[in-house]
This record gives sequence, C-alpha cells and structure tokens, in this order.
Amino acid sequence: MSQPSPEVYEEGKGMDAHNKVMREVRSRNDASYDPREPTRVWLDEDNTPDWFVTSLTIILNTGGCRWARAGGCTMCGYVAESVDGGSVAHEDLMAQIDACLDHEAENADDPAQQIKIYTSGSFLDEREVPAETRQAIAETFGDRDRIVVESLPDFVDREKIREFTEQGLQTDVAIGLETATDRVRRDCVNKYFDFADFEAACAEASAVDGGAIKAYLLMKPPFLSEGEAVEDMKRSVRRCLDVEGCHTVSMNPCNVQNYTMVEDLYHDGGYRPPWLWSVAEVLEDTADVDGIVVSDPVGHGSDRGPHNCGDCDDRVQRAIKDFDERQDPSVFDQVSCECERTWEAVVERERSYSLPLAR
Ligand code: SF4
Ligand SMILES: [Zn+2]
Repeated sequence: MSQPSPEVYEEGKGMDAHNKVMREVRSRNDASYDPREPTRVWLDEDNTPDWFVTSLTIILNTGGCRWARAGGCTMCGYVAESVDGGSVAHEDLMAQIDACLDHEAENADDPAQQIKIYTSGSFLDEREVPAETRQAIAETFGDRDRIVVESLPDFVDREKIREFTEQGLQTDVAIGLETATDRVRRDCVNKYFDFADFEAACAEASAVDGGAIKAYLLMKPPFLSEGEAVEDMKRSVRRCLDVEGCHTVSMNPCNVQNYTMVEDLYHDGGYRPPWLWSVAEVLEDTADVDGIVVSDPVGHGSDRGPHNCGDCDDRVQRAIKDFDERQDPSVFDQVSCECERTWEAVVERERSYSLPLAR
C-alpha cells in the first residue's frame, strides 16, 4: 500500500470529508437519554491473565466521545446513545453506578471478580468522567480483583491508573486501536491516532505495577474486502501482542450500527459485515501467539451483524465462544458447513473499491 501524503488530509478531503459525512449522519438522530441511567449493564465472564472470571460490564453514559462529536469513526453508533450536551455531572454518574450495583445484587449470588467500564468514549477523559468521579469509582470497586476501563490512548496516564492499582485492582485500559495498520485506521475507520500512540500508552500503563493494556480490534471496517480484512487482523493481532504491556486482544467483527457511515453504505449495497468464518480463520491462525485472543461477535447470524449462511451461524459462534474460554484452535475442526466454500471464494476473489479506473 502506498503511504498517505499530507495533502490527502487537507480541508474537504480525507479525514475532514469523513468527519463531515459522519456529522451529517449523526444529526439525523433526535433520541434523548436519562443521565442517571447507565446505557447498559450486564453480567458475563471473561478470560484474563488470571484465568476465567465473572464480570460486571457497565456502559456508563458520559455524554459521549469527543472524537464522535467531531464526526468520528465510520462504524461507531455509540454516541447516538449518549446524553445530549456532552457532559454528565458527578452525582448523576454515581447514580448510574448505583443502578449497576443494584442490577448485580438482584442477578448474581456473589459480587463479580472483574468490573468492566465502557463509556462509548474515554473513561480517562476528565471531560467525560471528572477526577472526583473516577476516584469514587475506584473506591467503590476496591473490593474486586480486576477492573477494565475504556480509553483512547491520549488519556492513558500512570497517575490515573495508580488510583485503581492502589485499591489492589489489576487495571487494564481497553484501547479501541481497531487495527495495527495506520492507513486502515485513518482511511477506513476514520480514527485519528497512530500505532505509535498505542505503543506509548502501553508503556505508560505498564509503568505501573498492576497496570496493562487490552487492545480492541475491528475486523472489516468499510472499504476493505473480506480477504484484506482477514489479513489485516492476522497482522494486527501479532503486532499488538508484540508490544510490552499488551496482554490481551479482543478482535471484534464490525456490525452495522444506526447513524453511521457503515449503515449508509450497507443500505446502498456497499458493505457486508464479515463472515464468521473469517473470525474463526484469524483466531485459528494466531493461536500460537503469546497472549490472549478473544472475540465477541455482536449480532451474529443477523444481516447487520457478522454472519455466514444462516444454517451454521450458531454453531460457529459457539466454537468462537469455546475458543475464547480455552484458547484451543481445535474447536474449529468440529464445525463445518457448505458455505465455507462460498466464503473461500469470497476471500479469494473479492476486491475492495477501485473505482474509477480512469477518469
Ligand atoms: S469508536 Fe471510540 S473513538 Fe471512535 S467515535 Fe466511537 S467512541 Fe469515539
Ligand atoms: Zn453455513
């Protein structure tokens, strides 16, 4: 691939153009949300360097990601679910945490070992979560073993991480890196930072005893063919786990979210979410890496989510979940379907956009 030149990013082109389209798409949304209610909360389990743990997963409503307000990533519809106005007060954020604790008390016998807090933005950005709230949350969950907080790399700071490790919490910062390839991250995802920023965040987090990074990758952003997406993920998984301080990769297939550029492309016949076979292929191929690789295909089997032919989707999804737990690639030997041949043909023959050939 050729290197992008600075001119591509001038006004009206490249990232500027992507942001303009994304702002227009997002402006079609007029829903509003209660600042005292979390966006979502649920109980699940996760593979961690300490083995399999129970998790309380919280999507905190913080007013949304700064980058999304500028336009933001082509596939991300999370900001559509954020409270209007761009910020939520300390008391309201703590009311959301209380609602999550109530949910846990009603649905689990024991407190979860791990807490995961996503904000559809950056938990470590003080415009979203004030320092006071961050410290109160660290204390609230000080009795647990691990915590994961989502953040863009810019806000990863050892002092902030220490607030959690000092409570005795193993602390992972989840970074939505999406891909290790800068050009794909910029031109297909429309995300502004570089792999070097991710590496710097890994160094910053691992400078703290008990601090580390979990990389989130996105399989098949728009404008990549199925085969390119598979190759991009194989490369990305390996590059992430080569960075000191990054112990886990969560490689997630893109789905079609509301009010996004991906949704517009999908309606115009320009986007298909990845095949579940592609997810299996990457997990199988990278099973020898030193680190944990998991995947959680959201909306599997549906047209807007990662899918195969309709007959085998549940079986392949189960194999992926099995792999998440055991990290054993032989789980994929036990699933097969005729549509695998179609997928192979797609991987081999599909080409990304190459228009116009001449003008
Ligand atoms: S993917 Fe992350 S950085 Fe991109 S717009 Fe969504 S929340 Fe913001
Ligand atoms: Zn099938």
